[in-house]
Amino acid sequence: MYIDTHAHLDDEQFRHEPVEELLKRAGEKNVRYIIAPAVGTESAAKLMEIAEQFPNVYFAAGIHAHDALSFFEKEYVTLKKMLAHPKAVAVGEVGLDYFYNFSPRSMQIHVLRRFVRLSLITGKPLILHCRDAEQDLYDILKEENGKLTGVIHCFSGNEEWAKRFLDLGFYLGFTGAVTFKNSEHTRNVVATVPSDRILTETDAPYMTPAPFRKIKPNEPAFIPVIADKIAEVKGIDSVEAAGIFVENAEKCFNIKLS
Ligand SMILES: [Zn+2]
Repeated sequence: MYIDTHAHLDDEQFRHEPVEELLKRAGEKNVRYIIAPAVGTESAAKLMEIAEQFPNVYFAAGIHAHDALSFFEKEYVTLKKMLAHPKAVAVGEVGLDYFYNFSPRSMQIHVLRRFVRLSLITGKPLILHCRDAEQDLYDILKEENGKLTGVIHCFSGNEEWAKRFLDLGFYLGFTGAVTFKNSEHTRNVVATVPSDRILTETDAPYMTPAPFRKIKPNEPAFIPVIADKIAEVKGIDSVEAAGIFVENAEKCFNIKLS
């Protein structure tokens, strides 16, 4: 069986069909569990509802780096409350995006720090977004050395950064990017990451793996394509790898999947 540790089930690209359909297709591919990270307060509320409805869906609550500028304290209070929900497994997604810079960097850092505190208060791991911002993200996490855990999702840094985040105790999430022809860089990084620190994720509806890349939005049913590619890069048996990746998610998010 497989797990998708990062699927935006509430994304508007999925609005043309009920969530049941996505979950059904995932189930047919043996993708039995899904973690859905929020990009804001409204998003978290929707995902909480989905998680209440479907036993195999968990959610995370946070504010995306893109929206740091429009973050209000009252949202922090709401998200904190949501994190007490039994299906809330992580704080996220939160982080830094210096590629798009949709919000000023100082605001992104401010908001990230608030949610790092929230991770410490709630004891729930972080789902982190990081684009061209490894140094600042690392410095912020390093301040709490040893007390934080979680995942740098859709990891796009180099081998050196991978090692540094692993040393801090974080997992690294890999998406359909591992299947892209021009992503030798990502495969080289995957090759250096120990199998027991890798999480499988789609980042659906984005990052559709090859050969479906230009054909349709990404969805949890594509996880086996990603997991198999990672196994191939690591030179391990794909069935064994799938088991390891599920175990990693159990450890990272402190959940017991059967
Ligand atoms: Zn995401």
